[in-house]
Amino acid sequence: MSSTELSPERRQADRARLADEVVDVLVIGGGVTGAGAALDAASRGLTVGLLEARDWAAGTSSRSSKLIHGGLRYLEQLAFPLVHEALQERARLATTIAPHLVRPLPFLLPLTSPVWQRAYFGAGVALYDVMGAALTSSASARAIPRHRHLSRTATLAAFPGLRGDVVRGSIRYWDAQVDDARHTLAVVRTAAGYGARTLSSARVVGLLRDGTGPHAPVVGVRVADLTDGTSFSVRARSVVAATGVWSDDIGAMLGASAPSLRVRASKGVHLVVPRSAIDGADIPGEGEQAGLILRTATSVLFVIPWADRWIIGTTDTPWHLDRAHPAASSADIAYLLQEVNRVLTRPVTADSILGVYAGLRPLLAGESDETSRLSREHAVVTPVPGLVLVAGGKYTTYRVMAEDAVDAAVAGLPGVPASRTAHLPLVGARDWETVRDAAPQMAAASGLEEEAVVRLLHRHGDRIGDVLDLARSDPALGRPLEGAPGYLAAEVVHAVTAEGALHLDDVLTRRTRVSIETAHRGVESAPEVARLMSANLGWDAERTEREVAHYEGRVAAERESQRMPDDSTADAARLGAADVRAAV
Ligand SMILES: Cc1cc2nc3c(=O)[nH]c(=O)nc-3n(C[C@H](O)[C@H](O)[C@H](O)COP(=O)(O)OP(=O)(O)OC[C@H]3O[C@@H](n4cnc5c(N)ncnc54)[C@H](O)[C@@H]3O)c2cc1C
Repeated sequence: MSSTELSPERRQADRARLADEVVDVLVIGGGVTGAGAALDAASRGLTVGLLEARDWAAGTSSRSSKLIHGGLRYLEQLAFPLVHEALQERARLATTIAPHLVRPLPFLLPLTSPVWQRAYFGAGVALYDVMGAALTSSASARAIPRHRHLSRTATLAAFPGLRGDVVRGSIRYWDAQVDDARHTLAVVRTAAGYGARTLSSARVVGLLRDGTGPHAPVVGVRVADLTDGTSFSVRARSVVAATGVWSDDIGAMLGASAPSLRVRASKGVHLVVPRSAIDGADIPGEGEQAGLILRTATSVLFVIPWADRWIIGTTDTPWHLDRAHPAASSADIAYLLQEVNRVLTRPVTADSILGVYAGLRPLLAGESDETSRLSREHAVVTPVPGLVLVAGGKYTTYRVMAEDAVDAAVAGLPGVPASRTAHLPLVGARDWETVRDAAPQMAAASGLEEEAVVRLLHRHGDRIGDVLDLARSDPALGRPLEGAPGYLAAEVVHAVTAEGALHLDDVLTRRTRVSIETAHRGVESAPEVARLMSANLGWDAERTEREVAHYEGRVAAERESQRMPDDSTADAARLGAADVRAAV
């Protein structure tokens, strides 16, 4: 087994190998689907390459609602197979694949008219639980508790911030939550552990064909290495493109006449506010704060506990502008505040917002123009021999998408075993049960607060020792980060030496979530984080300053876009700061 550490040296070695060999499966796109496909293929014993244009999870896979869920609302559309499949994946993720990153989370479904809603929603939630439990082993089923009906009084005790004149009671049910960016990273690292060559900052700019004409087989790709401006080719027996909202771009590389997938982008915006902005309460005896799922005119809105903050989201509107940096407008923010404030005694105000993020759902284009009606299911197509396109679906079902894509990719390769990922723990998960209960001992041995150790456990799982070793080796690394006391300086060094971070933005936005969790949006932490990164990435003073200036520019452009009234003005404001990878 190879190392799972994504160090700068590993990147160099992987690039050299990729330029030199013919891999069995080459995956384009380092979101959760592409990472999942790389792991699926590598764990079947195949040689694999994974190319990501920006950072791991920099596209949609770091910008979701962060729920691992069956999709309660799809029951209403009678989409039973979709819900069934997602609940099965939920159980696998929460018990075997990534229990350190995927945690059961209770939600209240508030009822506003007691009789018919309790009967209608109650039947749906009961079915949801039955489907979840019936699908899984008893150990898995126990990981996700069953639903309960709450009276009006019990609802207000569980969530004191709800308006007593609007809410008549609730149903409490359980789903699960994930740190999406860290989970995708764990999938990439696990694939690297099976020998996959993984390169971020590597943009595929063309397809290599064997012959001419629209149906000529794809035999590899042309890659631009954004770290040094060079380019190279990678040859492959099969190429899998898992490029989310960029799927049509890969289709376009084939030429106009080849059949392809049509994917449309739907923008979803989330707000992050402090815990104090909304009055919730821990569930007695369980120590868990429940979130809310609220119905809106066209969809649902979640209020989700996120460490000591809340995430409020989301919107669902078509997006035709810049896909790399979707921008939230003041209209998106006003909509979210208006919807959440319908049920709260104390309105959330714009002043209390810490962070805002926007993501793009890759939806398979159907006949309807309404994005919330476009298909949530995934598709796998082989437009020409040697190329598989996979898109659609949702975060929760990435493993199934990956398996289907790799099955299609290896259809012509003899003797390839079936997928093994259903029971394959990711980096950090293997010894989870042992480390999970050792937080007090680790706190005593490291001198850290137990709370800090628990936070580290849920980010690093059984690899927590790698971070604690760094902190022990240098007392400065054992200290909290400037402006972000929930993170240790050691985690920045670890992000560079083991988690493939190449830019300041990678650390502040995806290895940590400082960019959405703090009112300064990472600006106050940027100088220290850049300094910590510089030593391990060989940055000189000028490069270090450039990284900080770029980060500050990005935050300023985002703030400006969030003051703009609509998508086009918000997009124009956000484009004021270029992507850091284009600037290197
Ligand atoms: C607002 C919102 C909320 C959501 N909430 C949930 C939720 O709570 N639960 C859930 O299950 N799902 C949720 N989803 C859906 C889920 O996030 C997505 O389905 C999933 O992240 C898509 O992953 P992906 O890998 O297919 O795409 P992406 O994560 O976008 O990955 C595609 C990658 O391809 C790369 N790429 C593109 N072109 C190239 C190229 N030429 N060369 C190299 N790389 C390239 C991009 O840089 C990108 O990183 C949500 C989505 C949104 C937008």
